[in-house]
Amino acid sequence: MRLDYGHLPTPQPWLLAHDYPTILRALDDSLPPGVEVRRGALAEGLVRTGDRVTGVRCDGTAVTAALVVAADGVSSRLRREAGLTAPRSDYPHRLAAFELAGTVPPDFSAYVTDGGLRLRYPLPGGRVRLYVQVAADELRGLGPDGLRAWSGRVLRGCPGLDPVAEAFRAGVADRQVLPVSRALAPALTVPGLALVGESGHLVHPMAAQGMNSSIADAHTLAAMLRQGGSLQADVVDHALRRYDTARRHDLHHVGRTSHTPPG
Ligand SMILES: Cc1cc2nc3c(=O)[nH]c(=O)nc-3n(C[C@H](O)[C@H](O)[C@H](O)COP(=O)(O)OP(=O)(O)OC[C@H]3O[C@@H](n4cnc5c(N)ncnc54)[C@H](O)[C@@H]3O)c2cc1C
Repeated sequence: MRLDYGHLPTPQPWLLAHDYPTILRALDDSLPPGVEVRRGALAEGLVRTGDRVTGVRCDGTAVTAALVVAADGVSSRLRREAGLTAPRSDYPHRLAAFELAGTVPPDFSAYVTDGGLRLRYPLPGGRVRLYVQVAADELRGLGPDGLRAWSGRVLRGCPGLDPVAEAFRAGVADRQVLPVSRALAPALTVPGLALVGESGHLVHPMAAQGMNSSIADAHTLAAMLRQGGSLQADVVDHALRRYDTARRHDLHHVGRTSHTPPG
């Protein structure tokens, strides 16, 4: 699977790879002065007026809002409270994640091998993240010798990993094994509330589209609200219906691409 960003029809055909906390900080820094951020506050549930969502219960207080954006992640409590669903399908495999150190050339490549996905990408500070698809219990109980033999098999099955071979052998004991699933909510909105990000959809990390598509949700929602021109309930709810239609179309495509890599 060749990810050649040079072909993108944009003046900045880049792929940016960064650490999750740094991305959150960058988003925080871009907020205008009127935004109040309450770190660590728990959204406990929804406030309703009739059938419409009109706020959240947060740390014991009702906070009213013209629109509630439920961006509370994959296990979204607000999604459940709104009566929305995002049925999840688990993949039978896992991804073993390794963070490699050392001097290796920056490269973002995904390989589909007989053993499944091998994905490497650079991170700041000369680090490299490597994902190796594994069966559910492939690494369970492996001692140092077993891990050495396993990493040898992974490397032999994927010559593209040669530049990181030494770093992989050195770092193979330090790993995180992640379950992988996919989901797409049949509806992303109810009156007064929108699902944004993984509360509404989840993709296989193969094509690295999770955060991109979550940010695109926010961008589309903002555009639809801006076009509405007011935060009156009927105008907001009309913008929400347009958001739902526009995003579900794109998310369906993102989900398919992430599920089935291009041949
Ligand atoms: C290992 C891994 C690698 C990934 N790699 C990539 C990649 O390479 N490229 C890419 O595009 N995407 C990647 N993703 C996906 C990306 O991280 C997610 O798509 C993105 O973080 C989704 O953002 P989100 O805001 O919807 O959810 P999250 O980032 O999960 O944020 C949800 C937030 O809501 C908070 N929360 C939950 N419940 C409540 C509540 N009741 N009240 C208040 N707060 C609450 C949580 O604490 C959390 O801070 C990866 C994900 C993982 C796990």
